[in-house]
Amino acid sequence: MKYIIACIYNDVDILDELYNKISRIVDNDYIIESYVNAEQALIGCYNNIIAGNEILITLVGSDSSSMSVDNFILELHKNSPHTKNILFEDAVDMEVLTRIINNASVYQVIPKVFTRIDFELIVLEAIKQNAEQRRLNEYQKVLESAVDKRTKELNDINVKLKVLATTDSLTNVNNRRSYFESCGPMIKFLRREKRSLAILMIDIDRFKQINDRYGHAVGDEVIKSMAQKTRNILRKSDIFARLGGEEFAATLPNTTKRGAMTVAENIRKDIEAHAFTTLQGETIKYTVSVGVAMLTYDDEDLETILHRADLALYDAKRTGRNCVVLQPSESIEI
Ligand code: GH3
Ligand code: MG
Ligand code: MG
Repeated sequence: MKYIIACIYNDVDILDELYNKISRIVDNDYIIESYVNAEQALIGCYNNIIAGNEILITLVGSDSSSMSVDNFILELHKNSPHTKNILFEDAVDMEVLTRIINNASVYQVIPKVFTRIDFELIVLEAIKQNAEQRRLNEYQKVLESAVDKRTKELNDINVKLKVLATTDSLTNVNNRRSYFESCGPMIKFLRREKRSLAILMIDIDRFKQINDRYGHAVGDEVIKSMAQKTRNILRKSDIFARLGGEEFAATLPNTTKRGAMTVAENIRKDIEAHAFTTLQGETIKYTVSVGVAMLTYDDEDLETILHRADLALYDAKRTGRNCVVLQPSESIEI
């Protein structure tokens, strides 16, 4: 990328003098272009912008083109708003100057006899200011990308926190809180839509004995393995959670009584059929009992169905364990 300093004057001698003066203070990164009229200058500037160059400074004196100085600067400003425009006194009257100041920008107005001023210093200062602006822009870009990166990191952390807050750390299935949060709206929705819903309460039989015999750590592994097996049998749309200890609940939306009984029986059979093997190679056979309850028109919330599923689970334990019991309800099922 090159930096363009565009000089516009209808006086070729002045253009030469400008060229000589400026070329003494800039290096190869800068191109000094000379135009005798503004119209050609605008085309030249546009070509440079298209080529990826930056119009750093314009030096505009009186010219003989059909394009006025103010129109030239206003047009250029649309595509190159940071250009520092230096105007010669003879090129602008008050009206033109006002229009430029109000709609674009003027860096300095200098006398035509520019030997009267420290011309080089003015140009150098304009270059310096432009470079500072560029540095600021780049710094802002770096800052913005750092902020973007930080925002993404925070989002990632929030996702992780959400997972931590809703997941049971031992089994990685939903925890009790998230189960209640997810089931509440689902039950309301299915009740309104008159669609069936089943709840299973699943509890490992005589788990205390497993803990006593093999230790708490092995007990934990048994809980994990039971959760995994059950999760694999359930549908993706079912909500499965560890409510505490070795007790789990599953909510099965759009599931009839028959369907729910089949799923419950599949879980029971699967666990009965596959013993857990410890790291030492010991096999632990264990079973589960399941209580099933269906959503009825009387159910206002999760607690009432869950309570019936719990009663059914209690019945299953009472009648010998390793079985599925459906809680009969007096209310009409959906
Ligand atoms: P039942 O067939 O009637 O369900 O008998 P049970 O022994 O499974 O039932 P009980 O509720 O008497 O015992 C559950 C045991 O589970 C008691 C408790 O020490 C143990 N337990 C609770 N939470 C955990 C846990 O996170 N890890 C392990 N290893 N054991 C737990
Ligand atoms: Mg138990
Ligand atoms: Mg229990």
